[in-house]
Order: sequence, then structure tokens, then C-alpha cells
Amino acid sequence: MRLFVAVCPPAEVVSHLGTQIARLRVGAAAAAGARVRLVDPCDLHLTLAFLGDVETARLVDVESALGLAADSFRAGREAPPRLRLGGGGVFGDSRRTLLWVDARGDVEVLHGLARLVRERLRVAGLPYDDKPFRPHLTVARPGDRMDPTAVEADRTDLDEYAGPEWRTTELLLMRSRLGAARPRYERLAAWPL
Ligand code: ATP
Ligand code: MG
Repeated sequence: MRLFVAVCPPAEVVSHLGTQIARLRVGAAAAAGARVRLVDPCDLHLTLAFLGDVETARLVDVESALGLAADSFRAGREAPPRLRLGGGGVFGDSRRTLLWVDARGDVEVLHGLARLVRERLRVAGLPYDDKPFRPHLTVARPGDRMDPTAVEADRTDLDEYAGPEWRTTELLLMRSRLGAARPRYERLAAWPL
């Protein structure tokens, strides 16, 4: 099964961002019926580590690795990172263009958490993509169905955006199912931070 590790913003942060997205060109395009693939609000997340395909038999190892990572995080007496959404960027181009929102605040603490998670996965011999962690929340996948200058203008507008602050109090193991119109995510397990 396809797995990743994430933290999620709470409902009030998601709804604040939703209001902002609706004001952007990508939001207007979605409202007009363009297939710009806005991310469903309940799917918004920050990926800390992407494992990809893992055999079901190894799920228990994944869970124990993540439990240990959360334990070490708490033992380090770091308060759960206090974050807010603001700013943003564009990844990819043409058909792969996606728009994302940045995280601000205790981003260094989030980096530390991602390091702990990846370290535990590595020690357990589990797969993960070891590209440097770049915190981001994907908000839309307009691809080439929107003018690149409009996507860029949305990105610039996001510079002015500052969402409400929240504390990430849960580390989440997520399963992703591709193939449908949008990926389906499922929470498999959670650990307190
Ligand atoms: P789609 O692939 O249909 O665009 P998605 O990217 O949201 O949807 P997944 O590919 O299952 O769905 O990815 C789940 C999460 O892991 C997303 O946050 C995605 O950005 C991240 N992710 C996917 N592949 C990688 C990778 N190789 N390295 C790091 N993060 C990844
Ligand atoms: Mg993907």
C-alpha cells in the first residue's frame, strides 16, 4: 500500500485558507467549472516523509517506527510546532503545475520532526524518499488547464496571506489510493506530539 507521513492543519485553519483560495484565480476557475483540481479541504496536509509502496506485512514496522519517532520528539521536550500558513509557491510546469501554500513559524521544529521520522524509517529498513524536506501544502493542481501567468499571479497573492496559528499535535500515518479523479487519503494511525 502507498503510504506517507503527514501533519494536518485543524478545521479553522483549513476553512480560513479556503476563503483565501476562493478569492484566487484558481478558485474562480474551479467555481467556473475548470478542472484545476482544488484539493478537497479535508485532504490538506503537510507531508513529512513519503514511503511509497510498502507491503501490508510491514505496516506494523511502520507503525512502530513512527511511534518511536513521536516518543523521541516528545522526549526532546520540544513543544509541538506552532505554525501558520502563509506565502506559497508553484511546483512543476505545464501538465504538472501545482500551487502550494507555505508553512511559517516553528518550521525548524517541523524539520526536526521530519528528521526523526526519516531516521526511524531508515533504521527499520523501510523505504522513503530522502529528497530534502520542503514543507508545503498542495492546494490545487491546475496543470496546463490554467494560464501560467495566472498561476504565478496567485502565487504572488499568497505572499499577502497569513492564516491563523495552530499547534500540530498529531503525527499521522496516511494511506493514498491513486487512480480516481483525485487521490483518496485515509488516516491509518496517529500519535500525539
Ligand atoms: P497525485 O499523485 O494524484 O497528484 P498526491 O501527490 O497527493 O496525488 P501521492 O502521490 O500518493 O498523492 O502523494 C501523497 C503525498 O506524498 C503528497 O503530499 C505528495 O506531495 C507526497 N509525495 C508523493 N510522492 C513523493 C515523493 N516522491 N517524495 C516526497 N513526497 C512525495
Ligand atoms: Mg503524487
